[in-house]
Amino acid sequence: MTGTRPEAGTNDPRPLFPAFDSVDPPQSALIDKCVHCGFCLPSCPTYMLWGEEMDSPRGRIYLMKAALDGRTPISESFVRHFDACLGCMACVTACPSGVQYGPLVERTRAQIERHYERPLFDRLFRAGLFSLVPYPNRLRVLLAPLAVVGGAVRAFGRSGLSTWLPARLRALLTLAPRVTWAAITSRVAERTPAAGTTRLTVGLLTGCVQRLVFSHVNVATINVLAAEGCEVIAPPTQGCCGALALHAGRLDEARAFARKLIAAFDGSGVERIVVNAAGCGSSMKEYGELLADDPAWASRAHAFASRVRDVSEVVSELGAPRAPRHPLNGTVVYHDACHLAHAQGVRAQPRDLLRAIPGLDVVSPAEPEVCCGSAGIYNLVQPQAAGDLGERKVGHISVLRPDFVATGNPGCMIQIAAAAARQGHQWPVVHPIQLVDASIRGLAGPES
Ligand code: SF4
Ligand code: SF4
Repeated sequence: MTGTRPEAGTNDPRPLFPAFDSVDPPQSALIDKCVHCGFCLPSCPTYMLWGEEMDSPRGRIYLMKAALDGRTPISESFVRHFDACLGCMACVTACPSGVQYGPLVERTRAQIERHYERPLFDRLFRAGLFSLVPYPNRLRVLLAPLAVVGGAVRAFGRSGLSTWLPARLRALLTLAPRVTWAAITSRVAERTPAAGTTRLTVGLLTGCVQRLVFSHVNVATINVLAAEGCEVIAPPTQGCCGALALHAGRLDEARAFARKLIAAFDGSGVERIVVNAAGCGSSMKEYGELLADDPAWASRAHAFASRVRDVSEVVSELGAPRAPRHPLNGTVVYHDACHLAHAQGVRAQPRDLLRAIPGLDVVSPAEPEVCCGSAGIYNLVQPQAAGDLGERKVGHISVLRPDFVATGNPGCMIQIAAAAARQGHQWPVVHPIQLVDASIRGLAGPES
């Protein structure tokens, strides 16, 4: 597959910026593990789209090395290759040499954040996203009008009437999430007792976008965990986990969010910290590395990270289901969220949960390892590439004629639903735990 590569700023008048400094540089030892074999290239979505070496994992690692050695400046084209990376970690799965691309790209982005001055619109757009999305109280104010006019906003974004808008603003409109007033004002209980004897005490990350846009997923998660014998604690003081900041290279911001979240769960006595958003879970499992150089927090971060699990991991760990499953007839296409499959290696557990539902046929689309184009804020800052990947993913899903599409990450749910709507499909795009909840409660389908 080939597509149109975003235009390079060929006559960019802005000065070149110096190469990396010594604060959080990508680690040479990790870079040197790359033996340039190229096995990762076919798995990389941006290499698939454009066929350019510098938009492949191997090319990007070459650029990191060059910048680390002071052989290349942090120029506009350097930044463009890293902005185009989805951070999907398909290259990590494909690499036979065990190259840990995640920390490398996070630290490269941290260098870019410090040393490169982006164009004004780019700076303002990113500043807006990072000052709103991780803060539920601010985000609630922004989302409130969508409870009334969300459908009209999305329809306008998809229509020919909005083509005059900059691509990023158009993406904001088409990706505007479905919200209800009840959802954005709801709160989950601080403590939910287990049904019957307690098998495990777990904490729940309620998230920032998740608690407002996908509060029904949090409710379904609590329902299933409680039905399976978990006492669920959701500390009300918790905030954002810092995933968006971490993936964008805003490391100090990510560290501040991590410290606050660890403190929020202090003293809760939970044996696991359950996450139902893949991007959040993968970041929280990295807290030990993120705070490794902070003597006051390193051991707490490591202990916290060791307890973090995706909800599908926890339900699998509990063993034989306690709550009977009722039939749910139909076909569900399960899409592997990159930060669950590639970053956390969690592929079997969500499928096992779904296969345990009588009457449900669980299938995977072609190219299951390829990103849907969501990737945190990627579909807002790189709308063309994200749109191409979304169309490709929905094309593979649609041939399977699903009754439901399930995926374990809120960003993927929004991205796939938006791409499906553009192609005229109206499938319910849900979290797997919603289907399990519906099955336990004997419903015909998930509640939204
Ligand atoms: S993270 Fe994804 S987009 Fe980035 S280099 Fe790896 S495979 Fe390619
Ligand atoms: S597969 Fe691994 S070792 Fe080979 S080029 Fe890609 S990152 Fe380097």
